[in-house]
Amino acid sequence: MPNDLRKLPVLQQHFDRVVVLTGAGISAESGVATFRDSGGLWEGHRIEEVATPEGFNADPQKVHQFYNARRRQLSEVEPNPAHLALAHFEQNHPSRLTLITQNVDDLHERAGSNCVLHMHGELRSALCQSCEVKIRHLGDLTVTDICSNCSNPTLRPDIVWFGEMPYFLDEITEALITCDLLIAVGTSAQVYPAAGFVQTARESGATTVEVNLEPTAASHWFDLSVIGPASIKLPELLSSLSA
Ligand code: NAD
Ligand code: ZN
Repeated sequence: MPNDLRKLPVLQQHFDRVVVLTGAGISAESGVATFRDSGGLWEGHRIEEVATPEGFNADPQKVHQFYNARRRQLSEVEPNPAHLALAHFEQNHPSRLTLITQNVDDLHERAGSNCVLHMHGELRSALCQSCEVKIRHLGDLTVTDICSNCSNPTLRPDIVWFGEMPYFLDEITEALITCDLLIAVGTSAQVYPAAGFVQTARESGATTVEVNLEPTAASHWFDLSVIGPASIKLPELLSSLSA
């Protein structure tokens, strides 16, 4: 692959509508652990225990502790050049970018991105199971915390768990079928529906590019696989589109 991505035939055209899907890999270089790299464990925990509604019902205190630790970790990490490049692209090309993330951290926002579709929810948000209100929440959550809207002690992490419906699916589908370029960054492409986004974009005629440390299960769906760390490869790729 040439060093200058601008020389690649697949990137020669002008792209008006760019969709970027980010996964845990974009935050890995900031020090946030990814999900699957250690064989279906997230920070040493079984997915069924900490990322399903059944796991929460079985032991809400344990699940709160898990997300409390993830939420506390956010104050120890900083956005990296991949997050910053996306914020810069949005500032220079407003209305050209739709940013979708599977991540529950807030590194895109802290890099300066103003419009981020958090399809799997956010660590710094709590969801009331009684009144369904979402409340910005920076500290720890416990089973006795009271909802400021309905006063019930029914707050849970505002995380979309396995078996639950991701957020923003209508906006995301609309963006995928109208984009002319989809870039997937740092996602193992194993979790649906996000894993199917590349197929939707392709069927609608978009060019598709992935950025990952290694080929993924979905690599054959992409017109171009850029192999390398997101902090280096994504800024290069986005600047090659800026013309
Ligand atoms: P994943 O952990 O399944 O896959 C991470 C992918 O990133 C892998 O393919 C890996 O090769 C790649 N990667 C690792 N380091 C990279 C780097 N420096 N540059 C480029 N690529 C790199 O992640 P996923 O596909 O996003 O699915 C994980 C799910 O778990 C998400 O739905 C998310 O909600 C949750 N999660 C979120 C966070 C977070 O918010 N930062 C962290 C862990 C898990
Ligand atoms: Zn409530």
